[in-house]
Amino acid sequence: MTDHVIPYGRQHITDEDIAAVAEALRSDYLTTGPRVDEFEEKFAAYIGAKYAVAVANGTAALHLCTLALGVGAGTRVITTPITFAASANCVRYCGGEVWFADIDPVTLTLDIEKVRELIASKPRGYFHGIVPVDFGGYPVDLEAYRALADEHDLWIIEDACHAPGGWFTDSKGTKQWCGNANYADLAIFSFHPVKHIASGEGGMITTNDRELYEKLLLLRTHGITRDRGNLRYPDHGGWYMEMQQLGYNYRIPDILCALGISQLSRAAEGMDKRQEIAERYDQAFKAISTEKIRVHGVPGEAIRHAFHLYVIEVADRRGLYDYLRDRGVFAQVHYVPVHTMPYYRDIGYEEADLHLSEAYYSRGLSLPMYPALTEQEQQFVVDSVKAFLNA
Ligand SMILES: *Cc1c(COP(=O)(O)O)cnc(C)c1O
Repeated sequence: MTDHVIPYGRQHITDEDIAAVAEALRSDYLTTGPRVDEFEEKFAAYIGAKYAVAVANGTAALHLCTLALGVGAGTRVITTPITFAASANCVRYCGGEVWFADIDPVTLTLDIEKVRELIASKPRGYFHGIVPVDFGGYPVDLEAYRALADEHDLWIIEDACHAPGGWFTDSKGTKQWCGNANYADLAIFSFHPVKHIASGEGGMITTNDRELYEKLLLLRTHGITRDRGNLRYPDHGGWYMEMQQLGYNYRIPDILCALGISQLSRAAEGMDKRQEIAERYDQAFKAISTEKIRVHGVPGEAIRHAFHLYVIEVADRRGLYDYLRDRGVFAQVHYVPVHTMPYYRDIGYEEADLHLSEAYYSRGLSLPMYPALTEQEQQFVVDSVKAFLNA
C-alpha cells in the first residue's frame, strides 16, 4: 500500500527549475523579456518548426489561431469529440460552427474517413478547417489530413498539446514531429502542469508561415505594434504605438518562460521515461484477456507515441475508477465527449451520432503517467488494476 495520492499526471520540478525562475525574478523583466524569445526559439528548434509564438495558455493559443485564420460567423470547422473542450471552443469564440466527426476506436483520434464522409455529405466549400488532436500523445497522420484539406481548400490547426516530442513517419520516410507545421497551417501546445513541459500556465503556437506568424504576434498583444516600418501613420513621435486590429493580452510572463526553458531542456528525458512507463504497463497487462482490459499503447516503428496519457478500456470503468480512488490512485477520464456537454447540447448537438466516441467514453480510463512516477508506485497501480479485474 502507498499512503499518498498518485495522480494521473503531474509536473516534475527540479532545483534547476527553481533556480531559473529565481534568476528571472532578479532580472529586469517580469513579463515580456528576453526569456520569451529564448523559449520560442528553443521550442521551435525542439519541434522543428520555423516560428513559435509563446502565449498565456493553450486555449489562448487556439483562440489566436482561429483569429489569425479569420474564423467568423459561417465558418465551419471539424474536430473530434474526444478532446479537451478548448479544441472546439476556439471556433465558438470567433462565432464559427463546430462539426464533430467520430474517432478511430484503435488510435482514439479523429477518424479521417469519418471526416471525409462528413465533407462529402455537404456541398463544396461548406467546411473551412479541421482541428485534429494528437489525443493522448498519439501522432495524427497529418500528411493524410493535408491531402484531404488541399482537396477541399481547408486549413488545419493541429492541437498538439499531448504530443511534444511525438512523431509519425510520412510517405517519404521522414519523421514528422507533432506540431512542426510541415503539414498543418498552425499547431498549438500547452504548458499546463499535467502536460509534458510545465510553466504553470503557458502555451505555444508553431507555424512555418511568415504571414500567419506576424498576425499572431500582433493579435497576442492587443493588435498594437510599435514597429516603425509597419505603421499606417508614422510621424507622431517616439512614443507612438498603433492599434491596427482588435487583439488581446495573451502574453506569457518572462518568469514562466524561465521555467518553460528549464523544463524544455529535460523534455527528451521526460519522453524516455514516459516510453518506459508505457512499456511496463504494456508488459503487465499483455497477459490479461482483451475481454477484461484493452490497452491503447499502439507502439510501433512508424510512430513515436508521446504518451501524455496511458489509456485503458474496461467494462466496469466506474467500478475501477472508484476502486483505484479508494486506494489513492487518482486515475482520470479523458474526455467526456465535448458534444455531450450542456453547452453543446444547448446549441444543437443533442442528436449527434458519434457512437464510437460515446462507446470509448463509457470504458476509457487514463492511468497514472508522468516522468516522476516511481516503479514502486506504478507497480501499486498495476497490482490494483489486476486485483479489481481478478487477473
Ligand atoms: C490542455 C489542453 C488544451 C488547453 O490548454 P490550456 O493551457 O489548459 O489552456 C487544449 N487542448 C488539449 C488537447 C489540451 O490537452
